[in-house]
Amino acid sequence: MKKHLTLFLLIILTCLLSTSCSNSKSNNTTNKPKNIILLIGDGMSIPQICASMLTQESPTSFEQFPVTGLVKTHSKSHRITDSAAGGTAIATGHKTNNGMIGMNADSIAVPSMLEIFSDRGMKTGVIATSYITHATPASFVAKNINRNNYEEIAADFANSDKVDLLIGGGRNHFNKRKDNVNLIEKMQSDGWNYYDTLINVDISANKIIILADNDHLPSYSMRGNFLPEATSLALRNLKNKNGFFLMVEGSQIDFACHDKDSTYLINEMNDFNNTINVVLEFAEENPNTLVIVTADHETGGLTIVDPDENYTKTNLHFSNGSHTPLLVPIFAFGPEANRFTGIMDNTDIFKKIIDLANNI
Ligand code: MG
Ligand code: ZN
Repeated sequence: MKKHLTLFLLIILTCLLSTSCSNSKSNNTTNKPKNIILLIGDGMSIPQICASMLTQESPTSFEQFPVTGLVKTHSKSHRITDSAAGGTAIATGHKTNNGMIGMNADSIAVPSMLEIFSDRGMKTGVIATSYITHATPASFVAKNINRNNYEEIAADFANSDKVDLLIGGGRNHFNKRKDNVNLIEKMQSDGWNYYDTLINVDISANKIIILADNDHLPSYSMRGNFLPEATSLALRNLKNKNGFFLMVEGSQIDFACHDKDSTYLINEMNDFNNTINVVLEFAEENPNTLVIVTADHETGGLTIVDPDENYTKTNLHFSNGSHTPLLVPIFAFGPEANRFTGIMDNTDIFKKIIDLANNI
């Protein structure tokens, strides 16, 4: 009798488990996004966004997101992160030491979400307005103990079979190298399509690298709408039946705050805002797209002061020229966006995204 009861309970339990498993699977499959677009404003927290809002006539892109949260940014080694450890935490889900790219704190290379998505059959791309080899974009593709090893990082980009589209600066790290290797020629012989501008790019091509400057790209006043245009190009190039992952960085928000330059900051924020609008437009037309906007850390200890109280101008005050431990916001739009609410660690961004996008 006891034996029968045990067997009966086991059967019931198995049924319950299999039903709940198959239910949650089918639910997840229908809700899971096919395309993932991650936008990182380097050095951007609430003050930078608020400064942008105060200078815009119409509502900013940030106000279009139904879900917001906050992110803790400390690294393994420091209360205040740099962009290498911050980028690595978001890209790989591992807290690491400042200065390290794509490695955990024990200097072991760990896979990035870009690499994992590529293995799942999705197309992948990275866009920055800095060197493409700079810490934030590098965290998604390269593995290096030191973010300043730009030429080694460029070689990781050239040798990666996980990334399909690269747009940014830093051409010198590819073709003016100490080892005299021309990585652009090597990539071309490997099937990459190389351009030095956004003009006349064959967007039907499979592998595209656009290095638009020897150095960082110039600031917004010189480069104009490069970032929203590059993002639009990337969305057209990457869209495919298996989905894609794209990381877009507003790299120079951080530069402006290091420079304590209000005009530079407002321009970079407005450029990032325009870029987010391009992505939101795509997400509205392609409802299987999850859009996440966040940052690696705050830069500048920015506050907004208006001593004349007339609101005639926005006075920005940078309390320092370096990074701070402020929380940074996260914004989410699209399928399963509601997971990105509350206060989370930067490594949770990786975990939440990887967990969602496993439908391939
Ligand atoms: Mg950066
Ligand atoms: Zn910085």
